[in-house]
Formats: sequence, structure tokens, C-alpha cells
Amino acid sequence: MPADTHWLTSYAELAIEMGVNLQPDQTLVILAPVAACEFVRCVVETAYGYGAKAVHVLWDDDRVTHARLQHERPEQLRQYPAWKAQAYRDLVDTRAAFLTVVAPHPKLMDDVPAERMALAMRAAGQALAAYREAVQSAQVSWSIVAVPNDDWAREVYPQSPPPERLERLWQALARVIRLDTADPVAAWKQHLGQLTRRIEALNGARFRQLRYLGPGTDLRIGLPSEHVWLGGGTTTQDGILFVPNLPTEECFTAPVKTEVDGVVRSTRPLLHGGQWIEDFELRFEEGRIVEYRARVGQDVLASILDTDEGARFLGEVALVPHSSPVSREGVMFCHTLLDENASCHLAIGSAYPINLRDGAKMSREQRRSKGLNESLVHVDFMVGSAQLNIDGLDASGRWVPIMRQGEWAAGLV
Ligand code: ZN
Ligand code: ZN
Repeated sequence: MPADTHWLTSYAELAIEMGVNLQPDQTLVILAPVAACEFVRCVVETAYGYGAKAVHVLWDDDRVTHARLQHERPEQLRQYPAWKAQAYRDLVDTRAAFLTVVAPHPKLMDDVPAERMALAMRAAGQALAAYREAVQSAQVSWSIVAVPNDDWAREVYPQSPPPERLERLWQALARVIRLDTADPVAAWKQHLGQLTRRIEALNGARFRQLRYLGPGTDLRIGLPSEHVWLGGGTTTQDGILFVPNLPTEECFTAPVKTEVDGVVRSTRPLLHGGQWIEDFELRFEEGRIVEYRARVGQDVLASILDTDEGARFLGEVALVPHSSPVSREGVMFCHTLLDENASCHLAIGSAYPINLRDGAKMSREQRRSKGLNESLVHVDFMVGSAQLNIDGLDASGRWVPIMRQGEWAAGLV
């Protein structure tokens, strides 16, 4: 691994201090693939240095998962191990912090039939509902970080030879997560401050509706009257500020489930459960996806949309400038954690209760009545480009520019 120890250490510190914001005497849970073991060991050391009470690593391995998806009988794929789901519930109860480490292997799942993948994902979605609820309503602090490996580097920089491509990927990642700055934690605090100012402006405008116009896109999205724009950091119900995604460049909120009308065209390929969906278009009527087509991965898209009724509706609206650091790298990172920060995006499926004022404290029925979508899936897809314009209908009934040619309009910069 060419990354020097200095990078691993400062990355681990960033994940602990800015990512999950681990508190003294708190338990840390790390969900990680064995491919990232060197980084994980470093995070464990760092966490104890920050006063962790205990650190539990739940290891997995993409190749083991691949074997399972290839060989298990469908009735077995429908079962998510109860003991594993119980572990998540127990750890949520202790108010542990959850750090998810990903080490992408973009092509590994290409040969797994979409319907087998969907069975397993649906089972996990159902079994881990309590964990997802804890995460989406910020009962616990959590964060996701990505660690380079050669399988990933090969897809991002296919023209570069092996040692060089891994080094390039580390360099690019260091730039987009600001690890290359003298004091990454300070750089993040400044970045979060900028996102906060933008969010305050968006929340102040009380937009009732957004209109997206771009090549192949003409979409109107209604926002709940009590919607909340969030971005950068999120605060747990106990008041701890954490950063769910490193990197993060987005300002996001939830739409009214039934108030999405028109057509939207994806602008970047989407890798879902290891399978590609490219050049796709969705048509909405009263929030529901009534028509869709994809040049690549039509079956994968269909399997997402058929997960449940909520998978036919949107759950997230996110704004990201086209000039974001991730976008400036000029490559497809082949992982949503990175790629969604290169572009304005929307998500099919569940909405975040925290995108509604007091939403985390509401019952499911209350959230539903305010228009929040529910689903076992949450799949972000990219719709931003240098040609995208977005306007907002504000509280006074005026249409005001939010984004022009993919960049923040004046007043939101
Ligand atoms: Zn997002
Ligand atoms: Zn999302």
C-alpha cells in the first residue's frame, strides 16, 4: 500500500473527530471489509486515543458476499441472519457511534443476477429496519468513508499501471476529503461553515416548489411546508455534531412524496449493489414513477423500483455545484459516496425524517401525513450538469434562481 502512514493516521483522525465525532467513553462500531484492514487498525488505535470505551469491528469481505450471492438458494438469500440483526439493535441501544468503511470493488458483482441481488438487499433492508431508522433519524452518530485499493483504482484510472493508479486514487481522495491540507480538521470546519451559511439561506427562503430544467429534464418537486435543508454536519438527538459522509458537498432536503411531476434524465452512471445503470430517464406523475428506461441496466433499475411501493417515489433532493472538488477530479469514482458529491442528485426511496422540522420525534403516521416517503431502499442518482438550472418558488410566490449552469446562483454562493 503506497499511502504513507501519515495519510492513514490523519484520515483515521478525520473519521473519528469529524466523521462520527466519537465522545469519551463511547463505544465505536466499525463496519468494514477486510480489504481495508490496515486503515481499520489505524482507526481502532485512534479511537482508543480519543477515549473510546470499546471498539467493535464487524468485518465482511466482498468476495465472500459474492460467493453467497452466487451460490445460496433463493429461500436462503431471503433470510438475513437474525443474530446479526440483533447485534445492530443492541449496539444502537448502547448509543454507539457507527463508522462504515468501504473499499469499493466496482465490477465484482457484475455476474450476479439482479433478482438475486435484490432478494439479499431486500432481506437486509427489512432485518435492519431499526438500525436504518436510528441512522436516518440521527439517534446515533455515523459516518461513511472510502479507502482505496487496487480493484477500485483499476476502474477509476484504467489507463494507469498498477502501482501508479493506486497512488493516483489516494491523491485524488486526499484532495476531495481535504487530507492534503495542513490541518484537515480545520479545513473541514471551514467547509462546514460555508455549507451552513448556504443551508440557512435555503431554509430562509421557505421554497414551496423546485423546478429543474436541463437536457432531457423538466421536473417540478414540491417541498413540505416544514421541510429542513441540511448539509455538512448533522446533530444527533443528544446534540452531537457529526458528518455522515466524507466527503460531503451537498445541501439536501425531502420532497413531498406525491408532488413530483415531469421527466428527469440521469447525468452520470450509477453503480447499485455492484451493478451499473446508465443513461436512464424517469417520468413522474403525482410523485409516482410511471415510466422509466435505461440504456444499460434496465433490469437493475426495475429491481430497485419493484422493491416496494415507496421505491416508486422520491425521498431526497440534493444540491451540489458542478464545480465541486469531486467533480473537478474529472473521473467517475464508481461509488455513490464520491460520485453523488460531484452532482446534484435525487434519491429513489426512503426520506430522512430529519429533513422535516421535529421529524425525528414524529410517528411514522405523522411523517407520512407530511408527505415523507418510506421504503426499504434509498438509491441516490445523479442529475446535475453544467446545463442544469434550478429555480425555487419562494414563500411570497416568486420564482428565484437557485442554480444556473450547474452553479449556485447569486445569494447562495
Ligand atoms: Zn444526498
Ligand atoms: Zn441519499
